[in-house]
Amino acid sequence: MEQIKDQQTMLQEALNFGKPYVRYGKPAGYIPELAKIDPNRLGVALCNLDGTMVTAGEVDTYFTMQSISKVMSLILAIAQNGYEYVFTKVGMEPTGDAFNSMVRLDQLTDNKPFNPMINAGAIAVASCIRGANLAERQQACVEFARTLTGNPEVDIDFSVFASEKATGYRNRAMINLMKSNGIIDGEPEEHLDLYFSICSISCTCKDLAYFGAVLANNGVDPRSGKELIPLRVVKLARSLMVTCGMYDYSGEFAATVGMPSKSGVGGGILSAPIGKCGIGVYGPALDVKGNSVGGLKILEYLANEMQLHMF
Ligand code: GLN
Repeated sequence: MEQIKDQQTMLQEALNFGKPYVRYGKPAGYIPELAKIDPNRLGVALCNLDGTMVTAGEVDTYFTMQSISKVMSLILAIAQNGYEYVFTKVGMEPTGDAFNSMVRLDQLTDNKPFNPMINAGAIAVASCIRGANLAERQQACVEFARTLTGNPEVDIDFSVFASEKATGYRNRAMINLMKSNGIIDGEPEEHLDLYFSICSISCTCKDLAYFGAVLANNGVDPRSGKELIPLRVVKLARSLMVTCGMYDYSGEFAATVGMPSKSGVGGGILSAPIGKCGIGVYGPALDVKGNSVGGLKILEYLANEMQLHMF
């Protein structure tokens, strides 16, 4: 109980520390549905490895996972197809470029996107997710998201999906380029719809904290004790989160904050300090690289105060 009370104070302090920074960011403007969101929202949730949850701020508001879903779809694609097959479609190297950059997509001998945490790589990974049709593939992703977050309410936000589909010309260009380079099997448009659907899965920061706790707990569900992800895959996911999870801020974030994390332009960040806890933050005001400004400050505060830096 004492421990919980301390964490509660810590989270409230972290929230207070992050709050003044939200005015330095703005919601993602390139997806019309996201541009409308109130930038002053801010929340943080921490899930311990026994499943107990501590929260501060706006923690019950649903928002879309966006790029955070890239961790989940990678794990699902590997579960369905095996590790070796998925990495015939995508690499494991950080780029240092923006998440939606296409500059490296047409210059390599094998033309594979560099890693699964950038848009091109996640689109290639989505193309591996199985099912008889789009609806079945969407359902598999939603079910998996519900399992990893422990929340049966998690679902696709179809207004965000429609907004992304209507404006996603850059993602469409990438999948067409990858198709012409032999990376994508089947129909690009269905894979792209699946990718937009996965990005549009909506959750709360408590759900992200729970997902983080599964990753921090070596793939074991904190409440049921069931293994949800094999250890080899958890290690891979956490490694890619460290090297590529925060877009072109991943290097500095790994050095200064030091927790495997994944950011999304919906304003969420998922963190999984190994063997410690899961953390979810939500703050839709983003910096120029697409990371939540308030969220980054909250994580920085918690990493320092709770000694969560992995090194
Ligand atoms: N759906 C968004 C996109 O494709 C995801 C990007 C992100 O969160 N960085 O652009």
